[in-house]
Amino acid sequence: MTETGGAGSGGEAAKDRLPDLRSFTKPELEDLVRELGEPAYRAGQLYEWIHRKRAYTYDEMTNVPRRLKERLAAAVSFDPPVIRERQVSAADGTRKYLFRLGDGNYVESVFMPYHHGNSVCVSTQVGCRMGCSFCASTLLGLTRNLTAGEMLLQVYAIERDTGSRVSNIVMMGTGEPLDNYDSSVRFIRMISGPDGLNISERNITLSTCGLVPGIRRLKDEHLMINLALSLHAPTDSLRRTLMPVARKYALAEIMDALRDYYSAGRRRLTFEYSLIRGVNDGAEEAEELASLLRGYNALVNLIPVNPVTETGFREPTSAGASAFKKKLENHGIHVTIRREMGRDIDGACGQLRKRCTEMDSRL
Ligand code: SAH
Repeated sequence: MTETGGAGSGGEAAKDRLPDLRSFTKPELEDLVRELGEPAYRAGQLYEWIHRKRAYTYDEMTNVPRRLKERLAAAVSFDPPVIRERQVSAADGTRKYLFRLGDGNYVESVFMPYHHGNSVCVSTQVGCRMGCSFCASTLLGLTRNLTAGEMLLQVYAIERDTGSRVSNIVMMGTGEPLDNYDSSVRFIRMISGPDGLNISERNITLSTCGLVPGIRRLKDEHLMINLALSLHAPTDSLRRTLMPVARKYALAEIMDALRDYYSAGRRRLTFEYSLIRGVNDGAEEAEELASLLRGYNALVNLIPVNPVTETGFREPTSAGASAFKKKLENHGIHVTIRREMGRDIDGACGQLRKRCTEMDSRL
C-alpha cells in the first residue's frame, strides 16, 4: 500500500474533478488569483470568506467581484455541504451526520458535546482499504481519498448546523488518515491555522491502525497533535487475525515508531482497544497488553466492540470489560472505558454511510 494522498495545489482527490477551492492554502490561493488575472490581495478576502466566515457559496462573498467568481467557478470546485441525514441521540446529544459530497459519495461525521468542549469526529476517506474485520467502514472498500477541504467542510457544516463552537477534532471517522497522508496533514495545518478555526494542535487527535512510514513522516512535521494507535490485540499473531495491516507492520516496528514520535517531545500515547468477547478480552490478553505497554506513558481506551451485523462479533459483558480494565490498572496503566455515545443512532463507524450507499445503489 502506498501512503501518498496526492499532493498538489489544493485539489487532490480524483483526477477528473476540478481542484477543491477549500483545500487551497493562502499562498496557493494567491497564485490562483494571480493566474486568474486578479491582484493577490483578493486571496486574503477569499480565504476569510471560506475559512472564517465559512461561506458555502460565492453569492455570500459580497466584496469579491463577479468577474473573479466566474473565473473561479470555471477553474475550481466549491461544493456546499449537503446534509443527507442527521441523527440526534436522545441519550447524550451526540449527532451523527451523513454528508453528500459533490460527486455523490457519502461521508459520516459525528458531533459529540462534552463539558470541556465540543468534539467532531472527522472522516478522512470515502471507505477504507485497511480491512479490519470488526469495522463497518471497510466493508465496501476504499472509494477515494477526501480532500483537506472536504474534511474542513465536515467541521464547518457541523458548527453552522449546531450553532456551537467546536474545540476538539478526532480523526477517527471512516478512513485511515495516514493512507491519505498529504490531505490529512494539510487539514490539520489549515484547521489549526490562525486564519482558520484556530483549533489548538493539542486538541487534535489522529488515529491510525499503524502505518509505520506515516508515523515516521508525521514526526518530522513537528505538529503537536495527539496520536492514537488502534491496537486491538497485544500480540502480532492475534492482531493479524483482526487487522490485515498487522501482516505488513509488526508490533515491534510500530512501537518503535511511536517511541520515536514520543521522544520528539510529544504527549501521552493513546492506544485504542476494541474489546471483542472471547477474542481479545481474556486475562491472558490483559497481561500481554500490560507487558507490551510497560515503560510507555500510555492511555488505553477500551471500546466495547460496536456490533456490526456482518462481523458477528459481540461486546464483552460489563463485568468482563471492568475485569480487563482492572488487570491493566494493576500494572499502573491508565485506562478508560470509552463512554458509549450515540448507540441509539447507528453507532458503529461506517454503518450510516453503508446503509445509504446501498440504498442509493438500489434506486
Ligand atoms: N483508521 C483509523 C481511524 C478510523 S477507525 C484507525 O484505525 O485508527 C476509529 C477507531 O474505531 C479505530 O480504533 C477502529 O479500530 C475502531 N472501530 C472500528 N470499528 C469498530 C467497532 N465496530 N467497534 C469498536 N470500535 C471500532
